[in-house]
Amino acid sequence: MRRTKIVATIGPASRDPNTLARMVQAGMDVARLNFSHGNREIHAENVARIRAAAAQVGRQVAILQDLPGPKLRIGALKDDIAELKPGETLVLSCGSSEVGHGQRMSISWAGLAHAVDPQDVIYLADGAIRLRVQAVRVGDGEIETAVEVGGSVASRQGLNIPGSTRGLPAVPEEDLDMLRFGESIGVDVVALSFVRTAEDVETVRRHTRLPLIAKIEKPQAVDEAEAIIHAADCVMVARGDLGIELPIEDVPMVQKRLLRIAGQLARPSITATQMLDSMVSSSRPTRAEVADVANAILDGTDAVMLSQETAIGAYPVEAIEMMAAVACRTERELPFREWTENRVNRDSRDPAYTVAHSACTAARELGLAALVVPTLSGRSARLVSAHRPPVPIYALSPGKETVRRCSLMWGVEAASMRRHEITEALIADAARRVVELGWVKSGDRVGITAGLPSGKPGTTSLIQIQRV
Ligand code: PEP
Repeated sequence: MRRTKIVATIGPASRDPNTLARMVQAGMDVARLNFSHGNREIHAENVARIRAAAAQVGRQVAILQDLPGPKLRIGALKDDIAELKPGETLVLSCGSSEVGHGQRMSISWAGLAHAVDPQDVIYLADGAIRLRVQAVRVGDGEIETAVEVGGSVASRQGLNIPGSTRGLPAVPEEDLDMLRFGESIGVDVVALSFVRTAEDVETVRRHTRLPLIAKIEKPQAVDEAEAIIHAADCVMVARGDLGIELPIEDVPMVQKRLLRIAGQLARPSITATQMLDSMVSSSRPTRAEVADVANAILDGTDAVMLSQETAIGAYPVEAIEMMAAVACRTERELPFREWTENRVNRDSRDPAYTVAHSACTAARELGLAALVVPTLSGRSARLVSAHRPPVPIYALSPGKETVRRCSLMWGVEAASMRRHEITEALIADAARRVVELGWVKSGDRVGITAGLPSGKPGTTSLIQIQRV
C-alpha cells in the first residue's frame, strides 16, 4: 500500500472521462481544479466527471479547489505575446485594461503604482523576465521600468514583486465568490494562494466550513509559517511562486522547514510544482525529478503534486504512475520509529495526541496488521497519520465528506461506517467493517482507537488491541 498521496491538476489534457478514470486507477488521490484558469461551467463539469471516474474505479478521490488569491497578472497582449529586450523601457499601466505590447502593458490592479518604489524588482513570465522600476507616476497610474533580463511574455501571465505586499487585498472578493461556487458544486477542500498571515486564513474560515490549505509562496508567509500552518488545516509548499519571490536557492531549505513545521503541528502537507516537469512532453522523467519526489517524501510530505504534467502534459496517466512507483520505493526506507517518536509536538497535553502516539507505538511493538481509526471530523485520522505508523491506517467515518478529506492524509485509507453512540458498539462495528472491506483478514490483530462518548468529535481517548 502506498502511503504518500498524489494530487493531480485537472486541465485540457486530463478532463476527458476515460483519461480521468485511468488517472484514478493509476493512483490520483486528490484532483486539483485550478481556478486561475477555466470557467465555472468547465469546473462544474470536471467535478461531475471526477466523481463519475472515482465511482467507476471504486476509489476515493477528493476535489481540491485552488483559489487564485491576490495574484497579479498582466493584461491581454497584441498577438498574445511580446518580446522584451534588455535595456528597453516597459511602462506598466495600472488599473487599465488596454491591450498591451512590448513597450506598454496593463495591470488590472490600480494599487500597484502605490506598492512599488524606484529600484524595486518586478518579475514576469514565471521569474524569467526581470524589470527594475525607474520611476513611479502615481497620478497617471504608471510604472516605468527598465528590462534587465529579457524574454517573451504571454497575455495574462503572472507578475511578482518579491516582498512587497503594500495594499494588496488579503482575500479578494472574487475568491470568496469562487469559494461559494466551489461549495455549490461540492468541492472537498480549498487552497488559498498568496497567504501572508494567519488572519488571511481566518478571514476565509469565517466564510466556509471546508478544510483550508494555506499555500506558502510569499517571503512574509515563510516568516510567519508557524502561525499560518496552525491556522490552516493543511499546508502547500507552492514552489512555483516561492522560487520567484525568494532566491531560488532558498527553496529546498524552506521546503524542509515548512514540512518540519507541518509535522510538528500534525497538519498534512503537499509539495508542489515541477516535480516531474519534463513529463509534460516526455514519457520518462529526469533522474533529478525522481530524486526530488523521493526527497520530498523523505522530508515528510503527506502528498506530492502534479501541475502542468497532468493539466496540459502529454503523459498525465504515466506521470501519476511514475509518482506512485517512486513513492512506493522510497517509503520502504522511511524512518518510521524516529517519526513516531519525534515528528509531532505533543506538548498540548491533548489525550488524542497521546492516543495517536500510543497506537503507532503499539503497531510497531506488537506487530499489528493495521490501525483502525473511527473518526467523525477526520481529526483522529490526521493525528495518527502525523505520527507515521509502519502499518496502514484505516479511517472509518459516517460522513462522506470526512471520508474524502482523508485522501490528503499520509497512509490513510478511508471508508464509510454507521454512526454509533456507544463505544463498545463502535469498536465492534469498526472491527467488522475493516474485514468486510477486505482491508484486514479475519483473525488479524489490529489497534482500534475510540472515544467516550463516541458520538462527539474530538474525544478520542482510548485504544483497544484485538483480533478481528
Ligand atoms: C505554485 O506557485 O507552486 C503553486 C502551486 O501555485 P499556482 O500553480 O497556483 O501558481
